[in-house]
Amino acid sequence: MIGSAFDDLVVSLQCLPSVGVKSARKMALQLMIHKPKQAQKIAKSIENALVNIKQCTQCSMLTEYDVCSICSNEARTARYVCLVASPYDVMTLSRIPTYTGKFFVLNAMLSPLDGIGPEQAGLLKFQNYIEQCSDVEEVVIALNTSLHTQATLFYINQCVERVNQSQERSVQITTFATGVPIGADIDYLDTKTLATALKNRIEFSG
Ligand SMILES: [Zn+2]
Repeated sequence: MIGSAFDDLVVSLQCLPSVGVKSARKMALQLMIHKPKQAQKIAKSIENALVNIKQCTQCSMLTEYDVCSICSNEARTARYVCLVASPYDVMTLSRIPTYTGKFFVLNAMLSPLDGIGPEQAGLLKFQNYIEQCSDVEEVVIALNTSLHTQATLFYINQCVERVNQSQERSVQITTFATGVPIGADIDYLDTKTLATALKNRIEFSG
């Protein structure tokens, strides 16, 4: 009705979480009619973020530096590395004061049919991380349960076994114990539940 520029904007906004066509239309109208200055500011902020934010060379967390603030934080022990599915999970779990280890962010779960192999998922980088960081004693799995997660976990298990054998190490794999329902999204759990689950983690049986 308005034109293709407006339609494009509505389609673009729908890539945001929980934004359907109706909300996108409302947002687009609001920006165009009432807040053109803010719309320009948003556009500039997105451009700026895209130029300056990249993946940490070590753990794949988003950062403006080569190495993120968690990897470079010497107060955090390298003995534990918590494997998560998104930078958002790092933001959530790094707030738990009882977990003082590092993190590693996967790009995606393994899904060969969708063209996501070990490299695309970030699993080769993960193996490299474990190989290079000889301080790692435990990989703490904090991934939501799904069919693709199972394949990913199987790969991680093999990967850690390979490192243990080739480097004569005994890196353990553990996972959340009590408190986290199967299939639950880490984002939706409260800090206390997550802290308990992390504290009482159990050995992972792949
Ligand atoms: Zn990092």
